[in-house]
Amino acid sequence: AKTAGRGAYRFYSHEQTSSVRERTSMESRLRKAIERGELRLNYQPQICLDTGAIIGVEALARWSSPEFGLVAPDKFIPIAEESGLIIPMGEWILDDACRQMQQWRQQGTAIPRVAVNLSALQVQRGDVTALVRRALDSTGLPASCLELEITEGYILQDADRAIEVLQQLRDLGVSIAIDDFGTGFSSLSYLHRLPIDRLKIDKSFVQEIGSTSRAAQVAQAVVRLGKTLGLSIIGEGVEHPHHADALREWGCHEGQGFLYAHAVAPDQLHLLAPFKRKP
Ligand code: C2E
Ligand code: CA
Ligand code: CA
Ligand code: CA
Repeated sequence: AKTAGRGAYRFYSHEQTSSVRERTSMESRLRKAIERGELRLNYQPQICLDTGAIIGVEALARWSSPEFGLVAPDKFIPIAEESGLIIPMGEWILDDACRQMQQWRQQGTAIPRVAVNLSALQVQRGDVTALVRRALDSTGLPASCLELEITEGYILQDADRAIEVLQQLRDLGVSIAIDDFGTGFSSLSYLHRLPIDRLKIDKSFVQEIGSTSRAAQVAQAVVRLGKTLGLSIIGEGVEHPHHADALREWGCHEGQGFLYAHAVAPDQLHLLAPFKRKP
């Protein structure tokens, strides 16, 4: 926690005084939120577009604050990243997701994998492999049930180092997905060298499917690229049946989005119906 405090100080020294105060108070509230157990993980299903079966769930953090109500991760994850709080928070997230997944398995819920978001700061730290191994060991979850989602931005910062870390993670037996793919100005020169399993097409592209916009063409190009590289592809932000139909036609067989379900509390997951598509 002390290291996090120092990191925060460095960051805030570049900011305006008023926003410093605001951020610092958010940070200390967030710190307490972790201690008080106000953070929760909700789970959004990932769907096989051919059969409608749930083939995975993505763990998405929620902060239920007595003071602010439900705070969206877009609000508190950036603060956690800038302050270094994402390190203890991310450790809790990883543990909790693995524990939950293992519990589902023991209850006989047939969900093949859980996807957990790793922030760049977590991966840059040397010990992310040890962190993941510990989470698997302590919960008993088989590595093959865990997928880690990492954004492109991180990889571009230092591709050689990223490749090394991703390989170590993959050696544990977990799978790796590149999140928000297409938004990070991917360099095709490194993509084929990355030890990864899946590309996650960013929702901004998926949502343009059916329009004449270039973004829709990017979605199709990503599917083609992924197939060429022998990677799995999942489309996120699938909101309309025609998004799913187009993805499937192009050869992307996995999707995630409000068309199927929002992220739900773990005890609600069993209530979700199988997502059959219309014939
Ligand atoms: P993400 O990893 O890209 O997660 C997908 C986001 O898209 C989620 O928002 C999800 O609720 C939303 N989404 C899913 N389907 C649809 C759809 O059909 N339409 C639209 N418009 N949105 C959809 P959420 O839960 O608010 O999370 C936002 C971001 O916060 C995540 O983006 C991720 O970057 C970050 N985040 C969330 N949980 C964690 C976490 O546990 N660790 C880390 N490091 N980051 C997290
Ligand atoms: Ca994600
Ligand atoms: Ca994403
Ligand atoms: Ca995102």
